[in-house]
Amino acid sequence: MPHASADELHAALAAVTRAASVCQSVHRSLVTQDTITKKDKSPVTVADFASQAIVSITLRDALGGVQLVGEEDAADLRGDGATETLGKVTAHVGDGLERTATPDEVLEAIDAAAVDPDPPTGRFWTIDPIDGTKGFLRGDQYAVALGLIEDGKPILGVLGCPNLEVDGRKGLLMSAVAGQGTTVRALDASLDTTKAQVDPADAPTGARFCESVESGHSDQGSSAKIAELLGIIEPPYRIDSQCKYAAVAKGDATIYLRLPTRPGYVEKIWDHAAGAACVTCAGGTVTDIEGKPLDFAHGRTLQNNRGIIATNGKFHDQVVSAVQTVLKG
Ligand code: AMP
Ligand code: MG
Repeated sequence: MPHASADELHAALAAVTRAASVCQSVHRSLVTQDTITKKDKSPVTVADFASQAIVSITLRDALGGVQLVGEEDAADLRGDGATETLGKVTAHVGDGLERTATPDEVLEAIDAAAVDPDPPTGRFWTIDPIDGTKGFLRGDQYAVALGLIEDGKPILGVLGCPNLEVDGRKGLLMSAVAGQGTTVRALDASLDTTKAQVDPADAPTGARFCESVESGHSDQGSSAKIAELLGIIEPPYRIDSQCKYAAVAKGDATIYLRLPTRPGYVEKIWDHAAGAACVTCAGGTVTDIEGKPLDFAHGRTLQNNRGIIATNGKFHDQVVSAVQTVLKG
């Protein structure tokens, strides 16, 4: 089985820590009551580009040439109308790297992460520079999510979750390496590293399930019926981003359901690679809604899968059949 090296883990932790810190500083400087009221997405734009650039530069500096599949490309930053945004992005990248960055370097780093992996079964990284943009704007949960894929499977995942708590403090960094488990620490390195383990419950009764805050991203009506069928009484734990995977990986939730809201939607690899690694390495199971393993061997999308079911692995088949019963009924 392919495995991730200590250098790769080290580089990924540094990349995500820096990117998460930049997202926080963009939030502090650009998100105001006014931007929230006007649903102005410009802070997301700046943080998205700066985060992807930082991850791209950090991985390349540490590991040399890597294949990185990112959500963003720099086309929108190259136009005449984008000079001011590019200036802000460049300043934040410089702050994150603690050195001067240039606009050309930033554009090039973002575009270096906009490739289609070819061949798609090779070893490549995938980055969601800000997963859960709506949560980011609201001041709720969001994540910087970096995964390393080989032979269609995530073999390393790092989630930086600036607003998620660990031991009563805000800012969590979770990492998973296939064969080595999942660990949690504080984003500011103020706490020791501890092992993350899924909820040990061996029946769904009494379980807690999580799902998207956004009803457009997961069918909340069906998940309520599935929960009822499984005997789950607690209301859903709704949080944005791959923080849902982090919650399952450390046992704060037992189940994560992501149920298709429309026929044509195909999940993106950067929305799941890091999170799925965190859950499986913590002892859980992650499949699509039919119970099939997630197949990361087809470029930018999970085109052979629909929806997501992540559980603590103790009664996964029971959850899959409840999902099938509700979705087919
Ligand atoms: P969440 O935080 O769970 O709401 O998920 C955020 C992610 O949902 C974004 O990164 C998008 O890539 C993804 N997304 C956008 N539209 C949809 C959709 N119709 N169904 C599922 N996921 C979506
Ligand atoms: Mg995303």
